[in-house]
Amino acid sequence: MEVTADPESITAAVAEVHKTQLRFGLAPLGDGTWRVVVPADGVAEDRAVPATLDDFKRQLRAFAGTDFGVHAPRWLSRFGDATRQAERYRVGRVFLAGDAAHIHPPTGGQGLNLGIQDAFNLGWKLAAAVDGWAPEGLLDTYEAERHPVGARVLENTRAQMALLGAEPGPTALRELFSKLMDFEEVNRYITGMITAVDVRYDLGEGHALLGRRLRDLPLKQGRLYELTHGGRGLLLDRTGRLSAEGWADRVDHVVDPCEQLDAPAVLLRPDGHVAWAGEDQEDLRGALRAWFGAPTA
Ligand SMILES: Cc1cc2nc3c(=O)[nH]c(=O)nc-3n(C[C@H](O)[C@H](O)[C@H](O)COP(=O)(O)OP(=O)(O)OC[C@H]3O[C@@H](n4cnc5c(N)ncnc54)[C@H](O)[C@@H]3O)c2cc1C
Repeated sequence: MEVTADPESITAAVAEVHKTQLRFGLAPLGDGTWRVVVPADGVAEDRAVPATLDDFKRQLRAFAGTDFGVHAPRWLSRFGDATRQAERYRVGRVFLAGDAAHIHPPTGGQGLNLGIQDAFNLGWKLAAAVDGWAPEGLLDTYEAERHPVGARVLENTRAQMALLGAEPGPTALRELFSKLMDFEEVNRYITGMITAVDVRYDLGEGHALLGRRLRDLPLKQGRLYELTHGGRGLLLDRTGRLSAEGWADRVDHVVDPCEQLDAPAVLLRPDGHVAWAGEDQEDLRGALRAWFGAPTA
């Protein structure tokens, strides 16, 4: 929405409110638009009843003593801090993904990413089943892989909500956490968790890349991710000795000397996760069969 108050007085008022309430904030989004968040005066009994600008201004005045002259709302909505996860992501022909499978407070801005990654994990598996080449159990790997990822986000958003309390305990924890974040290893761990780039599906023992999403490597033909737009499997091969013959209708074979690839070759699933890493042709054929079904004659 837009505001009439000047930025200096907004900063001062927000700092004052933050002494006792951290779930409050005004932040400029550019083009004169601001994102404004204020605690509600209770839980909406009927979620279908839309939030109104008048309610919003009243809550701003209750917390900050001013409504900052908010007007022209682009979007008004309520959200809560409920933390819930469906026990099952698949029952027969029904699959849950996104907020239908998990909800949590928006701390860290993770919900959209989590839901899109659910869909990305599931999409190619559904396509494989529809196309008739899905190996046995492929659809069940969706819940096995994505449920633990969702649970981890619920855990970290719960922790972040606990850190937002204004009482002495959470305040002390927040200060301790801020100091810990100065350690590069801790910072890297938290960054990997919040961005989900550290997600590693449990595909068994093996190479360090197994189960991880491969980063966007530079190749002779361009960037790796440019080669994965087709939603097919990809054998990225530094050896030039391997073959995906029999799976050419599902898997592309790219030979490239890419020095940044920490393996002789990797087999990528259509969602970009590493299904196999190594250099043994028989081993590769086993992985191709396990993820992409039987070879064509
Ligand atoms: C304040 C706030 C800030 C957020 N910030 C971030 C952020 O910075 N980054 C981030 O990644 N995530 C953020 N999120 C979370 C993110 O918005 C959600 O995780 C994401 O929108 C979920 O997408 P979805 O498609 O699963 O569900 P939804 O966005 O809820 O979409 C479901 C759709 O289905 C429709 N629908 C429902 N029932 C029916 C029906 N019976 N028939 C037909 N249609 C139906 C609904 O109208 C809706 O359009 C935030 C959430 C909130 C509340």
